[in-house]
Amino acid sequence: MLWMWGVPPRLPHWGLVPRPPRPSPGGGRKVLTGSLRTAHTPTVIRRTRITVDYTRCGDGVGVDPRACGLCLRACEPAVFLLHQTLGAHEDDPLDPRKWRVTPLWPSLCTGCQECVRVCPQGAITVKVPRARHRTRRLQTAAAKRGACSDPAPSGSAPHKQSAPAPARDFRSCAVLGGAGMLGYEIVRQALARGIKVRVLDMAALEDPTLEDPRCEWLRGDIRDTDAVRRACEGMEVVFQTAAAVWDPATPSDVYESVNVDGNRTVLAVCRELGIQRLVYTSTIDVVVDGRRPIQQGDESLPYPRRLPRDPYSRTKIQAEQLVLTANSPELATCALRPVGMYGPRDRYHLGNVLELARQGRYLRLGDGKARFSHVYSENAAHAHLLAAERLYPGSPVAGQVYFVADDLPPGNLFDFMESYLRPLGVRIPRGRLPYRLAYALACVAELLAPGTKFNRFSVVQTCIDHTYSDARARRELDYRPLVDPEEAFRRTLAYWHEHSLWHNGQRNARPDSDRGIT
Ligand code: SF4
Ligand code: SF4
Repeated sequence: MLWMWGVPPRLPHWGLVPRPPRPSPGGGRKVLTGSLRTAHTPTVIRRTRITVDYTRCGDGVGVDPRACGLCLRACEPAVFLLHQTLGAHEDDPLDPRKWRVTPLWPSLCTGCQECVRVCPQGAITVKVPRARHRTRRLQTAAAKRGACSDPAPSGSAPHKQSAPAPARDFRSCAVLGGAGMLGYEIVRQALARGIKVRVLDMAALEDPTLEDPRCEWLRGDIRDTDAVRRACEGMEVVFQTAAAVWDPATPSDVYESVNVDGNRTVLAVCRELGIQRLVYTSTIDVVVDGRRPIQQGDESLPYPRRLPRDPYSRTKIQAEQLVLTANSPELATCALRPVGMYGPRDRYHLGNVLELARQGRYLRLGDGKARFSHVYSENAAHAHLLAAERLYPGSPVAGQVYFVADDLPPGNLFDFMESYLRPLGVRIPRGRLPYRLAYALACVAELLAPGTKFNRFSVVQTCIDHTYSDARARRELDYRPLVDPEEAFRRTLAYWHEHSLWHNGQRNARPDSDRGIT
């Protein structure tokens, strides 16, 4: 949830409140057809036009793009996305055979024509604008930090699979980012199952419960190919939880190098070492556009129409696409999107609220009716292990994304946070800012202090619903939360009582060089 820390992504307008969501045809979702041609296409090409002929590839009538995928591998800037069709216009939109490649980010196209050259079906055409228009367009794209023309499917449509995929045990795994809140729980649960674990993290973790001869700890990060290679060598499964998460102290180029280049490195090492299973930790922020409420959103939610401005969301979208498009007969990949995660070692969710409260800057926004989904870190880790068991080349889990949530019914974010603040003895101010007033103040705050945490995005994010359904994970991964909400509350509170870093004003115990990277 970037609302606490984030630079606002694009928001609808500068009025006092956002415009109400407009219903769009087709159940509110548009389908990216793969062709950018419209009835009003001008004679002079001003934008790169990439067309995929679906009579030759995909949709169950041409070549199966999952078996080919040459364009996906040939395209260096990763313009294409492999996904199932989502359109209500299809005869059977849930038919799992209907896969296609879509030129998701035409604004990134360099015009190299490599995809055209490698396509055995001659299904792709790329038309680039003449130099004058192209230069202007690229300048605009660079200024806007990238944009796409249509909302694109972020994951894939729910398909007909009704039973969990058969599980295949594994005896060893690498956990990249194993000292973070989620990575630590994956390590702990894997060791409890008798699985050999090798951890790669920038931080050392002095925890006697992890002193186990089957647990090997390496210092390093995913930008270092040799370190990733050492961590993954000989392992059956790789859990990729490492990321640069939002922190004002983190330079923007770190997000690119960790979240995008780092994941490229991990994928390259997996291919090089012949590793067949990669479980990637994504985030709900890849589908949040900061404009519309999300109510029981599922995996067919589209990515935002425009790439977000904030570097965290933008690079996590790119990373998720990289991982999903890397799914192949040699390397099976899937992505899990834990909803608002909390638990011990949480530096960015509850930890931030505690920090705000310590500074006397905590204040409720809205009317208290907006609802949010949460997941306890041990439950999210459990879902990762279940996904790894069911992920192998050819399994129905390969190439899919899954939301993961608790059994706890969605509730108001401030009520949730205050349930921890009160027992920790934090004074909670009585007042609250109504939504409209908060939005207007956020407009002013953004003008006076660009980059402030109190911005329109944070106001919208805390005052409208953001709830998600994990029905697909329950159905296909056989996911059930390990820890019930009461026990999760008790364990989290016990941790914060013991490690209430906020009491001495110390936000986290990591060295400065590690800040923002888990
Ligand atoms: S022309 Fe080059 S950059 Fe553009 S989509 Fe094809 S391979 Fe990618
Ligand atoms: S290279 Fe051609 S046939 Fe192969 S997946 Fe891409 S569009 Fe389809």
